[in-house]
Amino acid sequence: MKFGAPGPGPAELLDLRRRDGAKLALFLDFDGTLLEVAPTPGAAVAPEGLPDLLGELSAALGGALALVTGREIADLDLRLAPYRGAAAGVHGAEIRFDPERQATLKAEALDPAVLEDIRRLAGFEPRFLIEDKGASIAVHFRAAETAEPFLERKLTDYVAGSRGGLRLLRGRKVFEVLGGGFSKGEAVARFMAAQPFAGRTPVMIGDDLTDQLAMQACIALGGFGFAVAGDLFRADQADFAGPEAVRAWLRELAALMGDAGGRAP
Ligand SMILES: [Mg+2]
Repeated sequence: MKFGAPGPGPAELLDLRRRDGAKLALFLDFDGTLLEVAPTPGAAVAPEGLPDLLGELSAALGGALALVTGREIADLDLRLAPYRGAAAGVHGAEIRFDPERQATLKAEALDPAVLEDIRRLAGFEPRFLIEDKGASIAVHFRAAETAEPFLERKLTDYVAGSRGGLRLLRGRKVFEVLGGGFSKGEAVARFMAAQPFAGRTPVMIGDDLTDQLAMQACIALGGFGFAVAGDLFRADQADFAGPEAVRAWLRELAALMGDAGGRAP
């Protein structure tokens, strides 16, 4: 893999599965990983066949598949219906272990004053899209890219001056202000401590800075982190050229597991 410690890439991992029947736990980011990044978060539409593919994979992995996203889990469910699986939302602020139930872990929502503060310091610029996700407030600036340094300065100062332990997270054309105590890496570690994930080899696929913590968590547990090319990883630094290549790999994995002929999922 090109991210983190040297090791097998996605193709070699399929070989490993073929040869040894390696038991995998799969962690997948959503935007920019399973589908192209849309101009606005609300415009993202799952490609045809993706919900079925995820359902098939999750069943083949005995449920050891979790989406790990910056979106709220409820938002994810809406976009992937009828698929509904284990998931971590809002960068790990929400965790749903059991797809039949609501999120069992939920970080506290930010003080409503934070939203007001951020609206004000963003200057009510209509091209910024401010999204209130409870435990996080995202400021998307894809429609106003030149404003990035301005926004970064304002938000960095705000977070530094806050008393509530706020953090600033940078993503693809988005800044997020969130509270402490959770991350995508933390979410992966929590899943891996629970069934049906425990004891499997974890694999995280992602395209963004926030995904790197989840990749590191997988590597620390003897697993793998695969990067998808985009704004952050150049094609020659990434394991996948884009979401299309990720979906093709997932289809290959699903086919492989379907052929396993009674071998443990
Ligand atoms: Mg992403």
